[in-house]
Amino acid sequence: MAIKQVIRMGHPVLRQIAKELTKEEILSEEIKSLIVDMQDTMEAEGGIGIAAPQIAVSLQTAIIELPENSERYGTLDSSAKYIIFNPKITPLTSELQGFWEGCLSVPGLRGFVEREKKVRIEYLDENAVEQVIEPEGFLATVFQHELDHLFGKLYIDRIKDTTLISYNEEFEQFNS
Ligand code: ZN
Repeated sequence: MAIKQVIRMGHPVLRQIAKELTKEEILSEEIKSLIVDMQDTMEAEGGIGIAAPQIAVSLQTAIIELPENSERYGTLDSSAKYIIFNPKITPLTSELQGFWEGCLSVPGLRGFVEREKKVRIEYLDENAVEQVIEPEGFLATVFQHELDHLFGKLYIDRIKDTTLISYNEEFEQFNS
């Protein structure tokens, strides 16, 4: 168990397409301990999701867990804990929704991002069992944000209106 350093925008690993894992790899001790490290790091940083590339490991795995209360996002509907490997994402609507997103790899900032309201995600769980989930609303945004990390994308890339980027302090002062 260890809290790892979260790498920041500018680190090349955040721009790589991460490698898929085999079922054998997913079940290995190395990957189990990677997941524990990701979980510890996410909790220490107060995140609601983390992807392996954010701790400089270029593998297709991410964890998402919405707590009931988040320092960064306020009151949320809590979610199950999702441990995701090798996801395939399909939009289920062309309808978009916007949220102010933040990212452990882009500290101090927030930006307004529009994404599909509902998506289907096929993935392997921590037991290497195939799963399908169809998140909607804020959870759909969180999935898309985290899974973007596995394909070399950051939320910053998806901001259409750059006037809607703010430091957290100014956001608290002027937007809430
Ligand atoms: Zn992020």
